[in-house]
Amino acid sequence: MTIRLPAFDYLTPETLEDAAQLLADPERSVVVVGGGTDVVPKMKRRQITPEVLVSLSRIESLHGIRIDESGACTIGASTTLAEIHDSTVVPEVFAAAAGDVASPQIRNSATVGGNLCLDTRCNYIDMSDSWRQASGYCLKDGGDTCWVAPRSNKCWAISSSDLATVAVALGGSVRLTSVRGERLIPIEALYNNDGMSYLTCAADEILVELVLPRGNGRATYRKLRRRGSIDFPLLGVAISARFDDAGMCVFARIVLGGIASAPLRAIEAEEFIVGRQLTDEVLEEAARLATQPARPQDNTDTGSRYRKWMVSVFVERALGDVAGDRA
Ligand SMILES: Cc1cc2nc3c(=O)[nH]c(=O)nc-3n(C[C@H](O)[C@H](O)[C@H](O)COP(=O)(O)OP(=O)(O)OC[C@H]3O[C@@H](n4cnc5c(N)ncnc54)[C@H](O)[C@@H]3O)c2cc1C
Repeated sequence: MTIRLPAFDYLTPETLEDAAQLLADPERSVVVVGGGTDVVPKMKRRQITPEVLVSLSRIESLHGIRIDESGACTIGASTTLAEIHDSTVVPEVFAAAAGDVASPQIRNSATVGGNLCLDTRCNYIDMSDSWRQASGYCLKDGGDTCWVAPRSNKCWAISSSDLATVAVALGGSVRLTSVRGERLIPIEALYNNDGMSYLTCAADEILVELVLPRGNGRATYRKLRRRGSIDFPLLGVAISARFDDAGMCVFARIVLGGIASAPLRAIEAEEFIVGRQLTDEVLEEAARLATQPARPQDNTDTGSRYRKWMVSVFVERALGDVAGDRA
């Protein structure tokens, strides 16, 4: 069965100012699009039916990667995941995670802006319109019930962006722009743990660039998925950490993706490992602590109990990656 796109206008402004003006149009429903690898399938399934798509692809300033004098790496929103994966200046863990997203064809179109602003996903909404109509539209779809947790008044759709998890672990920031001006915020502050209102920014704000500070520690990303390619993360664990000369951990960020509506910091586990050497016992306890904020639901591939169990397994393995050789 071919699913046709609904009719829409496709606009390709050449400056950020023009794009911001178009997005601020109060008369029409306007959506910004990067590579369209998520927006277009959603339009085909009638999850969204914007009257206008504003493409950022022709805005030169949004393409490319640069390193500033402090060593920070700035990645323009329209830079593709393939370009990031091939880059030799992007932090290694970020480039590797970009190479783990979807498939080569998708990475050639998909942009970092689209990945970081990726809509939340759920078994009950990422379906054809006829399926959703037959089963009853869910909360995120204009209905009044969350089919994942029918007694909840919250939407539990999942944040499934690989790069969001890694960018939070690396302490990145994002620059946003709109007709009201520009602001730079920590990327962690971009996300809400709410499947419907998953971004804190306004609908007419454009993510212009991601800034990753110069790393002076170790970082890793481990992704759980059924197949080695194409699949979204069922769980992503990103860790960045620094150690002193004696091997004592002096800084840690442990971030869990794919198990909530936003990337989640495992704060208790982070606090536990700081001031300690990462012995096997410390890794085991930190992994146990990291499962506490995780409340995966049965709304993606594999069961929630399995994914919760995998949090401790993956955190322990990821901590092993950053701990390196241990006594
Ligand atoms: C088969 C398949 C497998 C996939 N696997 C993965 C995976 O493993 N990991 C993963 O992370 N993703 C995966 N994806 C999802 C998606 O392809 C990627 O996340 C991709 O990086 C999205 O980028 P895009 O530029 O195509 O986004 P778009 O589809 O263009 O946009 C996505 C969202 O971001 C918004 N947006 C885009 N650019 C901006 C901007 N600059 N400022 C503000 N908002 C913006 C759009 O309005 C939209 O809401 C997969 C998709 C498919 C179809």
